[in-house]
Order: sequence, then structure tokens, then C-alpha cells
Amino acid sequence: MSAYDEFARRMARINDLCCVLNLLTWDAGTQMPPGGAETRGQQAATISAIAFETFTDPKTLELIRAAEAEVAGEDPDSYRRRAVEQARQAYEITRRVPAEVVSQLKELRPVTESVWARARAGENFAAFAPYLERMVELNRRVADAMGYDEHPYDALLSRYEPGLTVSQLQVLFAELRAGLDPILARAKAAPSPRIDFLTERDYPEEAQRAFALEMVQKFGYDLNRGRLDPTVHPFEISFTRQDVRITTRYQRRWMPAAVFGAFHESGHALYEQGADPALTRSALTTDLLDFYAVAGVSYGLHESQSRLWENLVGRSRMFWENHYGRLREYFPEQLADVELEEFYRAINRVEPSFIRVEADEVTYNYHIMLRVEVEKRLIEGSLKVQDLPEFWREQMQSLLGITPPNDRLGPLQDIHWASGTIGSFPNYTLGNVMSAQFFEAACRQVPEMEEALARADYRPLLAWLTENIYRHARAFLPDELLRRSTGSPLNTGPYLRYLNRKYGELFPG
Ligand SMILES: [Zn+2]
Repeated sequence: MSAYDEFARRMARINDLCCVLNLLTWDAGTQMPPGGAETRGQQAATISAIAFETFTDPKTLELIRAAEAEVAGEDPDSYRRRAVEQARQAYEITRRVPAEVVSQLKELRPVTESVWARARAGENFAAFAPYLERMVELNRRVADAMGYDEHPYDALLSRYEPGLTVSQLQVLFAELRAGLDPILARAKAAPSPRIDFLTERDYPEEAQRAFALEMVQKFGYDLNRGRLDPTVHPFEISFTRQDVRITTRYQRRWMPAAVFGAFHESGHALYEQGADPALTRSALTTDLLDFYAVAGVSYGLHESQSRLWENLVGRSRMFWENHYGRLREYFPEQLADVELEEFYRAINRVEPSFIRVEADEVTYNYHIMLRVEVEKRLIEGSLKVQDLPEFWREQMQSLLGITPPNDRLGPLQDIHWASGTIGSFPNYTLGNVMSAQFFEAACRQVPEMEEALARADYRPLLAWLTENIYRHARAFLPDELLRRSTGSPLNTGPYLRYLNRKYGELFPG
């Protein structure tokens, strides 16, 4: 067996363990009775420890070294070279971060999540504060151990979006604010669309599910390698490209939650299902830092795909011109007096609100700007945890012109910090920006694209995304993928053009 093959065999074992971990996670989020939580946590910790031990074993370093020697003369862009390089990088980072910090973060997580859940329910930030302080401190230690050039937050950002820095984010957010503020101002001045038919009528769950499934299959989601289940917090998760599952949440009095939730998760799933079969059970379908089986290269790139299918395709006028009739067949009474135009306006309503996950396409990015500013300040030490609620209220007022009446609608709304995750929030906005950049490039490069979308044929779009993004899995960094497929680095131009075109028509100035 060649040195590379031996290396690949070890990576396959680690990927298998990660797929088992993912399966435990899927089960906990969809099937497991509440009583199973404690032992499930122990099972996950055991498998995770085996993956960690296998990866950090000195034998792994030997295998990496031998494989490096074997692939040294090969094309720097070959999957083999990329796989070895990424394993080496992950190995170095894992070795730098003290094991004691990693285990403290892991132990603290379930405790902090349950304290957070109670604090949120009781609108009691003070109860959560000491736990958050501990999480910030541990993340600061991770940043210091990983190392950084300019800002400790850069180190944390790079775990979720390789190469991303605070200074890049500052430029990005300034451009977005300059472009978004005028759209938001026009939206606020425009009359609110009617949404009574969505909030006051009953939509049976079974029909919501059937419609959502029918649509995501049109996108290309393959049910032979996937399935849709109900859950509380929707997610997508995979155990190799051969089994990529999505979940959604049903509300009888807000059907868009399930439908757009399924569109969103199906975008994540198309990415995973589209990986090159040759990369199955490889380093390029494994997050070796977090022991998570995933084909997407970064959080931001993954999110660009969920948002592309959910928003650029699924919330477009063209999409509903094709499919509103079908939706009406599922809900003939509920939508009997609702014209296509009314429906389109209802699902694209823009209005400042307190909760990030319920925000529309325009205001969503402001929620991210706020969180990124908070994270950056907490990590550099210029904001104290105890002052966070006050800072939050001021920022919401200056960004969106609203002030949350309590901390449940403020800094207690997201689970991220309770889970010990600091640095992942930018990915949502990066996802928005990249989604439009990819979509614009696809339409420019494939002349028949728009015609195909107009007749609800999503195959050319899926083919372009698979060829340029999905098949490569984690082989190329986000910046490399952007440059190779769109011809330019991250660029807010296409996203702002997209929003201006769409909302310029909805809210003429
Ligand atoms: Zn997502």
C-alpha cells in the first residue's frame, strides 16, 4: 500500500467516526426522547474522543509526513495534495490549542446551554453572564494559542471562514450599510403588505410537508440519498454524500417557516450531495478541527448555497409565477382570495424586528453586524459581559431604529455563545453576499440559464453549482472558489445589485 493510501485509510476511519457522531446528532434532533439526552451526550463524547485520539496520535503525523513526500511533485491543485495539506494544517492547529482548554469548552457547553435556556425563558441576562464570561475567556485562550497577525478575533474567525479578518469585515459591512440603508428607508416608508392569509388561517402540516418536498426535489434534492423530518431548530446533516438529511419546523399559522426552512436546508443538502464521489470518506469531506463530517468548505460558503436556493430562487417572482398555482392546489381555501402578487409581497415583506432568525433579506445583515461588533469587543476586552445588554439596545436603535423590550428579544436569543461558539456569525452575511456573486456568475456564464429558470428548470443552475463548487468539497478555500468560478474575490456588488433590483421594484422610491 502506498504512503498516500495509508494516510487515506486513516482519514477514512476518522470520517466514519464523524459520520457516526453526525448520526447521533441527527437522532437527538429528530427522534430521541428527552430522557435519552444525558447518555447521548456521553456516547457522543466517547466517539468524539476516539476521533480526537486517532487524529492526534503520533502515527497520524508519520502518515501525513510520508504522504507529503509522495504527493510533493503533484499538481498543487490536485485533491491528493489538498487532502494532505489540510490534514497537516488541522494537525498543527489541534496541537497548538491546549487540550485542557478544549476539554473545558466541551464540559462547559451542556451546562451553559441549559443555564442559557433558563435565563432566556426568564429574561434574566444576569444569570447567564458569569457563564458567558467563562466562554469568552476560553475563546480568548484558543485565539492566543492559534495565533494571529492583527486581532485575536481573526484567529476565531478563521476556524469558520479560513482567511477572514476583522479588517476585511469592516470594509464589507461599511459597503453593505451604504447600500442597504437606502433600501431599508424606502421599505419603512412603503405601506405594509397584507399577511392575514398567512397568520390567521390554518395550514395542515401534511400539506406543507408535501409541497416543500415536491419543490426541493425540483431543485434536485435526491430522496434516494436524503430525507425530510420535523424538528425544533431546522438543520441539515450528512453521513457521506450518500445520506444527506434535512429537517424543518411546522407552524400551522405560519406556513412560510416550514416551506422556506426546507428550501434553505435543501440548499445545504445539494452542496453535500454534489461532492465528487471520489472524495467520500476523505480528509476533504471531514472538518478535522471539529470532528464533523461535511463536504462544504466553510460556514460562509455553505450558507451561500442555502440562501441561494431559499432566497434567490425560492423567494423570486419567477419561482412563484411557476409554482403559486401548485401551492394553491395544496391550500385551495386558505389562498382562495389571495392573488399571486399579494402572496409574493407577503413573503418578501421588509420590516425591522428583534429576532435574527425571523428577519427578512434586507434587515438580516444588520443583526449580523451587531453580533460581530459584540464578539469582536468581547474578545478584545473593550466590552464587558455585564454591559452587553445596554450595548445591544443602543446598537439595535442605531442600526434598525428599534429597542428590544427585554433581553430574551436581545442578547439571549441565539444559542451560539452558550455553545461556546464565537466567530461564526459573519458566515450568514458572507453567505448572502456570496450567494448573489455565484448566482450572477452562473447567469452570465450560461446564456440559457434565465430562460431555464423561467420555465422552472433548475438543472442548468444545479449543474453550474456542482461543477464550480459542490464537486470540489473542501479542496479549495472560499476565496479560491470565488476567484475560479466568478473571476473575482468576495464582492458586494452582485448582492447589492440583486437587492436593489428586487426591492426597487417592490418599493419604488
Ligand atoms: Zn443555513
